[in-house]
Amino acid sequence: MISRTIHIRGLVQGVGFRPFVYRIATREGIRGEVENRNDGVFIIATGDEDALDKFEKALRDEAPLASQVKELISEQSDNQDYKDFSIVKSNNISDAVTGVSPDIAVCEECRRDMFSQAHRVDYPLINCTNCGPRFSIIKDLPYDRPNTTMKSFEMCPECRKEYSDVNDRRFHAQPVSCNNCGPYYYIIGSEDQRTGIRDICLAIAETISKGMIVALKGTGGYHLICDPYNDKAIEKLRQRKGREGKPFAVMSRDMDAAKQHAVISNEEEKLLSSWRKPIVLLESKDQLSELVSASLNSIGIVLPYMPIHYLIFEELETSSILFTSANLSDEPVITDDEIAAEKLKGIADLIVAYNREIYNRVDDSLAKVMAGKAVILRRSRSYTPAAIDINCSTEGIFAAGAELVNSFAIGKGKDAILSQYIGDLKNEASMDFYRSSYKLLSKLFRFSPLATVSDYHPDYLSTHFAEELSHEMDIPLFKVQHHHAHIASCMAENMLDEKVIGLAFDGVGLGSDGNIWGGEILLADYKEFERVYHLDYVPIVGADKISEEAWRSGLAYLNKYYPDKSAIYALAKDMGISKERSALYLKGIDKGINSHYYSSAGRLFDAVAAITGVNMVSTYHAEAPMRLESVIDNTEKGFYDYSLESGIISFGPTIEQITNDRLNSVAVSRISARFHNSVANALIEAVGEVAQLSGIRKVVLSGGTFQNSYLTSSVYNALKKYNYNVYLHSTVPPNDGGLALGQMAIAARKLSTI
Ligand code: ZN
Ligand code: FE
Repeated sequence: MISRTIHIRGLVQGVGFRPFVYRIATREGIRGEVENRNDGVFIIATGDEDALDKFEKALRDEAPLASQVKELISEQSDNQDYKDFSIVKSNNISDAVTGVSPDIAVCEECRRDMFSQAHRVDYPLINCTNCGPRFSIIKDLPYDRPNTTMKSFEMCPECRKEYSDVNDRRFHAQPVSCNNCGPYYYIIGSEDQRTGIRDICLAIAETISKGMIVALKGTGGYHLICDPYNDKAIEKLRQRKGREGKPFAVMSRDMDAAKQHAVISNEEEKLLSSWRKPIVLLESKDQLSELVSASLNSIGIVLPYMPIHYLIFEELETSSILFTSANLSDEPVITDDEIAAEKLKGIADLIVAYNREIYNRVDDSLAKVMAGKAVILRRSRSYTPAAIDINCSTEGIFAAGAELVNSFAIGKGKDAILSQYIGDLKNEASMDFYRSSYKLLSKLFRFSPLATVSDYHPDYLSTHFAEELSHEMDIPLFKVQHHHAHIASCMAENMLDEKVIGLAFDGVGLGSDGNIWGGEILLADYKEFERVYHLDYVPIVGADKISEEAWRSGLAYLNKYYPDKSAIYALAKDMGISKERSALYLKGIDKGINSHYYSSAGRLFDAVAAITGVNMVSTYHAEAPMRLESVIDNTEKGFYDYSLESGIISFGPTIEQITNDRLNSVAVSRISARFHNSVANALIEAVGEVAQLSGIRKVVLSGGTFQNSYLTSSVYNALKKYNYNVYLHSTVPPNDGGLALGQMAIAARKLSTI
């Protein structure tokens, strides 16, 4: 007999870890005890050496799905005599903090209990130690019921018994509840607050099938639901919500139903059915109303993740529903019941709530598979606030993020904790959300800022926030160039700490030279970067309107690269721009009025979308590049010319040839494919040049342009073929939603050398 102490750090609370330890200890004949501490789980284990080894292996290999064992420190200790194995009372011995679990989709066992457990038949908020709400209901640590929004619900004797029984699946499941004692759903405005859940689901199903709209309170915010086959219902929803063209997601009853709407690979199937249940962007099969995906060739699908979703499908005739966040245009998703009653009245015909507060707002997460790898595009429900270890002290660093699709980060230990998806900070309500989320996360993680880091851009509201914080607290503020932060973000999540070739391609980011960047090849590590290649600068007029009005980039690119001016006017007319207006616009470029220099991939894609007539004016962010990708003919292998010269990648020849193809009525699907192939070729050739000069073979891809599946896969596969080590994002988005991680990684290295 020998004894060991085992200290496990990581995400080990609120995920059923102690009962799991108890189960495997009993199985392997181990005696001793396990306890929860602020900084993790602490075990004393006594047994044969062989059994102890097996026990430790099982601790890693069989850990609960949502848990994350980051560090397991096992040490010999004096032999200690125990009669059995037990779970002992929590002991808070330090201010160090262990991870907070994200929300977890309802598990299979709980779904079965909805049929078989007398006090939980049809209970629509059923949960256990392996599933249910976590981050959305937590107010403070440690994760105990009084620190959650379950505080006001007293457990009935039956639930209490399960909660206290170490052999029960609901042992210390903080949100444990049932039909007798837990929160319940109700219809807002209905007299009878306790209508049975079956009646509520029937009312939901009837409302949907009549072509009307339902608002339903979800895990981290309200959703709007309607029939995805009914054009009129969707039109009504678009109109009422003020959402013109942006695609909607659907929720499908199960994988078979999902496969009716989309082509689904094994990797995508895994992502769809994972416990995180993100919305997954897939290649669509055109079974639904065209209005759902707004004529794009992709569709976002999510599988049910709350118990009530399954109950609703039991009453529905269709196997899919349109499923979108309940917010007004660009505001954050609604979480509050009173606000829902007031603001959703004009949108939804039926509003269904439950009487438990959502404390932390979390929107649905969004992901897709590119080059065979799952990549997150919007990181929120079921991901936040999982920590990301960046292998360098981050303690006290606040990283402000960027402006669009914002997410900020706070540093604890060696971890970066990214906030949930906040949104576009220019929207006042989103900026309020940013401030309040900063307060909530700071309290939850016992965070006190020692340094701040922001983007270069002086007008980003996140930059202002960091400046104010640094001023108020009298702490340093670091400013990091946008594309350097993108590359650092992808490096950090891939645990790279050396010089790499970084491809940072996106819409906008302020460059070190005062111009607008977004087509950059950098030689970078965390400390510094060198801009070795960039897209040729093009002057474009229109400032704030440029990213919405692709025709502006179209005319600017033609002006710079197309020799025949009369053809430009003809094309402008095709774009719906009168001769007078285009003449005025071109004059503006010549005179440099309100114009800026762009080396931006986003603008290049906009220009091609406009010249080919695919998209002139966007109704949502990045619509033009998305439409351009959407029309690609995959069988087309041709490409256009480009040039690489003294650090500049010019797509001048590409633009000229595209314009000629367009004037010769070549199919847009082929032009788009050739264009994408040309961009991929140019990047691969430029990487080759840089690799030859620098001897570096590690290539990192980041920035919003690498949400384009076709381009990302082409570049990734080609570089792999040439034996480069290529790194993509996976746990944080390639878009600006992942920027805070890069800012933090850079600031952490700066601080470590001070
Ligand atoms: Zn469960
Ligand atoms: Fe960016």
